[in-house]
Amino acid sequence: MKSLSIIASVLLIVSSVMAQEGATVPVTNTGGASTYSCDPNTCKIENNCRCASVNAPGGLSPADTPQFVTVTYDDSVQEALMKTALSMVNVTNPNGCPGHGTWFVSMEYTDFSLVQQWYAAGNEVADHTFSHVGTPSAQEISSVREMLNAYAGIPVSKIQGFRAPFLNYTKDTLNIVGQQQFVYDSSSSAVTDDVYWPYTLDNGMANDCWTGICAAGQVKLPGLWEIPMYSVLNTANVPQLMDVYLAGTATETSQWSQAAFDKHYNGNRQPFGIYVHPTHLSTYAGTPDPKEKFDAVIKLIKDISAKPNVWFVTNQQLLQWMKNPVKASELGAQDYMQCKQPVIAKEICNGLDDDHNGAIDDGLVNSCNFGTTSMKTCFNCPATAPSLSSPVPASSAQNGTAGYRYPLGDGCDTTWWDPIGNTCLCTSSDCQVKSMAVPKSNTNTTDSTSDASSQDSNGSNGSNGSNGASGLVSHFASTAIIAVLFAGLSQIL
Ligand SMILES: [Zn+2]
Repeated sequence: MKSLSIIASVLLIVSSVMAQEGATVPVTNTGGASTYSCDPNTCKIENNCRCASVNAPGGLSPADTPQFVTVTYDDSVQEALMKTALSMVNVTNPNGCPGHGTWFVSMEYTDFSLVQQWYAAGNEVADHTFSHVGTPSAQEISSVREMLNAYAGIPVSKIQGFRAPFLNYTKDTLNIVGQQQFVYDSSSSAVTDDVYWPYTLDNGMANDCWTGICAAGQVKLPGLWEIPMYSVLNTANVPQLMDVYLAGTATETSQWSQAAFDKHYNGNRQPFGIYVHPTHLSTYAGTPDPKEKFDAVIKLIKDISAKPNVWFVTNQQLLQWMKNPVKASELGAQDYMQCKQPVIAKEICNGLDDDHNGAIDDGLVNSCNFGTTSMKTCFNCPATAPSLSSPVPASSAQNGTAGYRYPLGDGCDTTWWDPIGNTCLCTSSDCQVKSMAVPKSNTNTTDSTSDASSQDSNGSNGSNGSNGASGLVSHFASTAIIAVLFAGLSQIL
């Protein structure tokens, strides 16, 4: 794992050098950065087209623009890693809902019951290839969707994103991602002059051009979004992208990250990203304890989440907003920013603690053992270990026999599906749900960039009349009662 991040770091250093040279070297030698052109009069969001731009969509002023923070995780999902990941989105958004993150999952060593829990809690699951290879085949990418659907019960339509292992994305890989109808890729880096909001590849790549990827004839994938990864500059102006906390002392890397965040927050409010291999921040016997780095990252997250109008979102939530940008004051009321969970009286294997006994899916998860490897799932164990050529082998239990688990039913959301009872517990629009929202008590959700710091000390929610706070008051009035009951839920998850 460490060597991977070193490779990524080396690539970024090269990126930095090239980017700096770009200012003085003729355009033809820079890989064609200037060949990107996009006409906003023809590339319109109603046609699922958006030009690369440093400006927020919808003509919003920075003060009206939400500051999105995306925390993303790469590689396998395992218990210790998931604990680390959850602690990094354990924040409250301005509408009282918990923050969420996006996990780019590779299949080896992944615990699929945990993937299901991650998703059931409102987080996003995305594709990071089956076996984490730098030049993935189409099967390396498609098999992930099949497995996440079969063993974690994630609807294929909800697996929308892709990140290339080692961030080694290429024209060929992006073409496969486009052919498989993913909604977005998030593998490219943005450094200084190319810090664009997410955009579609109708007119090719516009950032990370040092690789030559922006040149004419390279990539043109109408409707496929690119969510750039926003880098953090160290004191020598060398961009850091993944696992920034590994690149210096805890104090140094926190300062770099805070400065990078401030640049976004006090500028055009392009999203800010925290890109993590959770393994580096998790504690394992026999390896150096990363606690100091971990604590510094958590402090950074708490500090920035306390600022007005900062929202910790999944990449899918970010793109929902890109497609229909609303003022920050209206964001909390949007459907995709709600945090509702089903009310189900008995425990079913759906990734949630339905009976509130403190354990998720207790006694219901299958442990599948294949000799040298194993996996956990709410669904059927395959008779043999999944492989690249056979990602979803025949199941060990036969349909109709005891212990058989039924695959996610068409049109049923994962959290409502009982794989043992073969039942979707919600088939209409009036199923009983509860909101996980809690009042955000110690920060102010209103926003004025110029005096944001003075508003930080105003401890009440919605008491400041400006910028849509009244909408939040009514939001809390409707959710406050159930919120009290379920305030602890996100802690358990
Ligand atoms: Zn990876």
